[in-house]
This record gives sequence, C-alpha cells and structure tokens, in this order.
Amino acid sequence: MDSGQSLTLAHGDLHFPVFLPDGTRGVVRAVDSSDIESTGIQGLVMNVFHLMQRPGSSTIQALGGLHQMSGWQRPIVTDSGGFQAYSVIRQEPQKGSLSNKGITFRREGSKRRYHLTPEKSINLQINYGADVVICLDDCTHVDDDLETQQKAVERTIAWARRCRAEYDRLVVNKKGMESEILPKLFAVVQGGGSRELRRQCAEQLLETGFDGYGYGGWPLDGEGNLLVEMLNYTRELIPAEFPLHALGVGHPENVVACAKMGYQMFDSALPTRDARRGRLFTFTAETGLTGNWFRFLYINDEKHIRSPEPISEFCDCPTCTKYSRGYLHHLFKINDHLFFRLATLHNLRFMRRLEDRLRAQHDG
Ligand SMILES: [Zn+2]
Repeated sequence: MDSGQSLTLAHGDLHFPVFLPDGTRGVVRAVDSSDIESTGIQGLVMNVFHLMQRPGSSTIQALGGLHQMSGWQRPIVTDSGGFQAYSVIRQEPQKGSLSNKGITFRREGSKRRYHLTPEKSINLQINYGADVVICLDDCTHVDDDLETQQKAVERTIAWARRCRAEYDRLVVNKKGMESEILPKLFAVVQGGGSRELRRQCAEQLLETGFDGYGYGGWPLDGEGNLLVEMLNYTRELIPAEFPLHALGVGHPENVVACAKMGYQMFDSALPTRDARRGRLFTFTAETGLTGNWFRFLYINDEKHIRSPEPISEFCDCPTCTKYSRGYLHHLFKINDHLFFRLATLHNLRFMRRLEDRLRAQHDG
C-alpha cells in the first residue's frame, strides 16, 4: 500500500523524498543503468516528446519498452511532453503549434510532423511501460500574462480529463490487469503566478481524481530564484495523502526548500549536466542540512591540479573512493569521456545521499 512515505510501483517502490535524474531520451548521458544503480538512484524520468521522435515509438516497442531498451529495471516516470512543447514552441513558434486538440511539432532538421494529443500521450506512455504516467498539460512561464495563464489552465484541465478517460480505457477497464500493480496517473497543476488560477486548476483536477500531482510551469523566476510562494500555495491546495512532484526542480538547495514544503518527488537534468561541465556537488559536513551545508566544487579551478584529495571527504561514490581531484582536473582538461562518467556518478550519489539527509531531518 502507498503511504505518504513511498509509492509502490510495478518496478519497485519510490521512497520519499526522491530525486529522479532526467534520462530524457532514454539515457542519462555518460552512464549506463548499472552505473546509475551503483549510486542508489531509485528511478528515472524519460520524456515522450523526445522519445516519440527518436528512436520513435514503434522502435521502442520493438525493443521491448523503455525498461528493456535501457536496461533499467527500477521505476520510470514518463513526462507527457507538455513542458517540452512549451519550451520549443512558445519560444520558436515556427517549430509547431498548440490547439485545444493537442500539439503539433516538427522534428529538428526534418520536415516530418508529429501530433501529440492527450490521448496519444497516455497511449505512448502506457505502451512504453512507464510506472508513472503524466497527463499532457499546457505549460506557461510565470511572466506570461493572465489571459495566457487562464487559457493554459482551461486547456490543462480539459486535457487532464481526456487523459484520465484514455487511461481508464487502456488500463483500469482492461480485463486481466486486476492483479498487477497499475501505472500511476499524475496530473499537473498550472496557473503561473496567480493564486486564483492555481486554486481553480487544483480543484478541478482533484475533482477528476488522480494518483498524484505535479507543480507545473517553470519553477524559477527571471533571476533564477525558486517561486517559493506559489510552490507553497500549490502544496497547500493538494491534500497531503497525494504525492506532489516538483517538476524540473533539481538544484540541491531548491530540492531541500521544496521538500520542507512537503514536495516528495523531484526531477531535473541539472545535477548530471553540471557534472559534465565540471560543477560538482559537495556537502560541507558529515551530516545535516543546516547553515552552509552545500558547496559547488569547480574541477576546472587550477588549485586542484596537484590535489590528491577526493572531490568530497563525505562521499562514498566510486569516483571519490578511487580518484583524486588532480586526476579529475586532468581528465576534464583533456576533455576525456571518462570525466563525464565519473563526475556524473558523483553528482548522482550526492543527490541520493541528499534524500537520506532529508529523511533523517524529517524523522528527527
Ligand atoms: Zn563522490
């Protein structure tokens, strides 16, 4: 059974709070499934918008679904494509369009057109074998005007209802699935910076009924600060028995802030992208999350050239167990692929240990 502390899925439980690295295209860059397992990471987020283009849905099915294809046997959350449509189409309208029917877009460097409707998004996510399926939503930026936010909320509610109906048709009403652990269906709360719209959206989605919810829209303001007030308010709108996913939140300090508000699930490409760029995450003390508990280590810094120290004395990852800052600095300078892998392993292990510290704080 699901408690407020975990989510039981066909490929295992997610223990909260949980950070899910983005393996958007079916891979977490530079590491394979065994590498990720070795960090203790509990699950991954993959993305329909990208996967339906490459390698393509029929290819994924021919390769046995996402778990089989990627060799990852722990939970997979699939994102619906709403956020990607927002980032691609709202910023470059020539690349596609949004209507009440759904989203149409062109693949980068190709004439081929793709259509993503709420029904199709659910269909693909179920066929890919996802453990958590997310409703297609109409995503906005907090700076968009109120009319845009209003339209996006109306569309998000209407699409979520269509997603629910399609999910019920494919999964709930399908005979023979009674004994299985069914995929969970999450809906996304939109509304930008308007409390009124957030409330309307949450109420309507709760009335339709989902297994969990997500905070939708870009979670940072123009200066890169977390939208604390709106995140807090959205958590208040969703009853505590439902898990709430802070979509796109992955900066360690933001994860801690959102976990304190009551968010349980997080995903972002930030920790792995930062790793590849040489920005490594470190704790400043053996335990706890108080004071200045977190620090970036920039491996490019010349002060590391002859350092025999590991990235972090408080890390037990394969990289810190075996390699010095000096060696990693060298690998980074010569742009060796091994650096990407070792740095990614370290930042992922950091995120996994951050979960433990948050749990300890919660239990304490
Ligand atoms: Zn490490």
